[in-house]
Amino acid sequence: MTLTPEGLEHTPTLDTIIEGITCRIAERSDRGRPADYIPELARADLSRFGIAVATADGRLVTGGDRDMGFSLQSISKVFTLTLALGQVGDALWRRVGREPSGNPFNSIVQLEYEQGRPRNPFINAGAIAVTDAILSGHQPREALGAILRFIRFVSDDDGITINEDVARSEKENGFRNIALANYMRSFGILENPVDYVLGVYFHHCAIEMNCRQLAMAGRYLAFGGRHTPGGARVVSAERARRINALMLTCGHYDGSGDFAFHVGLPGKSGVGGGILAIVPGKASIAVWSPGLDANGNSWLGAAALEQLAKEMRWSVFGD
Ligand code: GLU
Repeated sequence: MTLTPEGLEHTPTLDTIIEGITCRIAERSDRGRPADYIPELARADLSRFGIAVATADGRLVTGGDRDMGFSLQSISKVFTLTLALGQVGDALWRRVGREPSGNPFNSIVQLEYEQGRPRNPFINAGAIAVTDAILSGHQPREALGAILRFIRFVSDDDGITINEDVARSEKENGFRNIALANYMRSFGILENPVDYVLGVYFHHCAIEMNCRQLAMAGRYLAFGGRHTPGGARVVSAERARRINALMLTCGHYDGSGDFAFHVGLPGKSGVGGGILAIVPGKASIAVWSPGLDANGNSWLGAAALEQLAKEMRWSVFGD
């Protein structure tokens, strides 16, 4: 790892900006609402906020509760998509689309119109289909092991684990996801037994990471498919670019347009309150605050990213 310990070699500008954002977020009284449909997540402490930025020159600039673990939830879909594309390549697109859904993350309506083929890999139905692709030819335990190994590899951290309580809580209350999976299976979009696919899906959503680990994990998307600029290759530059494109257009469910409007970066949110945002060529950013907006995206996480992108002039759409 080429990172220097925080505090030794800061870029003053980024460091000051992160400090300022962390202070301003701490003062906010509007904090959103936790995900209440997964009881284990409903207990989240809304006062929490963390941020970490992994930069092209190998530093990690952080603020707030950057070491506190949170549930990855839908952010895990970025890593499962990367893994599935590595395993089955473009054949994946035969069963999952690449268009924004304009519907809530767990909507079933669109599936019926579109013969069980999910709109994109980041809505729940799409991510369940991606998990099915990873599972094919393997036991659930092997598929889950491959996902966890990949996340540990890209974040350079073997300490990342699954929170079994969250996985169980989601399984016990996952009626909507069970419906989505059965519906897709009836159209032949899923190849494996529904309970196997969902077992792997619930567990990869329950992976726990902190902001430091997540910012590190996103580096391959920021640096043209490489761990670090000029470092070991994780995926091709083209694949990284395309995953970024999907994050920009589909990463925040039916709030994706608004996120592009305010932040202007590829980003993927999760109902645990985390967001992974990518500044191509420059940085991988992780923010976390468990209060969500009406679309299931972190309320203050998005606010922090908006400030950061503005102050650093990082929007992909220009200054
Ligand atoms: N595990 C969650 C679910 O399937 C993921 C949703 C999210 O993070 O947006 O409902």
